[in-house]
Amino acid sequence: MAFHNDPPSCYVCGSTSCSRIHDAIRYGLSPRPFRCDKCGFVFIHPRMSPEEEREFYDNKYRSNYEDQKPEDLWKESLPEARKRVARFQNLFTKDTHILEIGCASGFFLYEVRPHVKTVTGVELTKEYVQYATSKGLDIRESLKEIPAESCDLIFMFHVLEHILDPIEFLKEVKEKLLPGGKVIIEVPNVDDILVSTYKINKHLDFYWEIAHNYYFSKETLGKILEKAGYRYEMYPLQRYDLSNHMYWMLTGKPGGQGFFNTIFPQSLLDEYEKTLKEKFLCDTVYAIATK
Ligand SMILES: [Zn+2]
Repeated sequence: MAFHNDPPSCYVCGSTSCSRIHDAIRYGLSPRPFRCDKCGFVFIHPRMSPEEEREFYDNKYRSNYEDQKPEDLWKESLPEARKRVARFQNLFTKDTHILEIGCASGFFLYEVRPHVKTVTGVELTKEYVQYATSKGLDIRESLKEIPAESCDLIFMFHVLEHILDPIEFLKEVKEKLLPGGKVIIEVPNVDDILVSTYKINKHLDFYWEIAHNYYFSKETLGKILEKAGYRYEMYPLQRYDLSNHMYWMLTGKPGGQGFFNTIFPQSLLDEYEKTLKEKFLCDTVYAIATK
């Protein structure tokens, strides 16, 4: 694992031939994004050491980076949680045991609970654990507390990019799955049209960030899953709309979701989203991976 004093090297293929792809990251911090010249894997270098990472998530992440009270996050996230339940409903039945890793304040588990047999969460942030527990959810503070071969479905929404050793982590996740069980992994897509095509400087300064060790595409997420011993299928997803993209171009700032929706017809929005997904230039990808 490469940290501060090492030259940039690729986590996936080990190549030391890696190119810096932007000269800034969010909050003016010093690490930079690199792309492996050999396999195309994108990563932040230097990454935090495990000790720095623990300190970061214990003390800095919530207060400096993700300043959201558990209740506000809950309210803001319920609509997306409902969409996720609908998106994956063909994967579960009344007999399904579900685990979510990185469940935050528990909104997805809360929404999916009426449809399945059991729901369990793993979450590191203590304030979120307390909040989710107050909603009657069963939350553990470590994956180690989850018994082997106890889950039919494991969900990880925007978690894998935060993990320092995702291949080892996914092997550990696999041990928790029942035979034939599946893990659903949703991550930002580094081939996002804003990053790969529009290349808006202000957006890139914001896009690259210290909390994301790695930036996956459908190809590199696939490689990671193969190395962890899964079979998988990859799916495109677009979370931000045409207004958001135009707003970035016009102002260099986030927050334009829906901004031009009184002008844009729904058919235009739908067609734009469809095109991004077909070409995998969408902002998000998810894998359904089988043990
Ligand atoms: Zn590589």
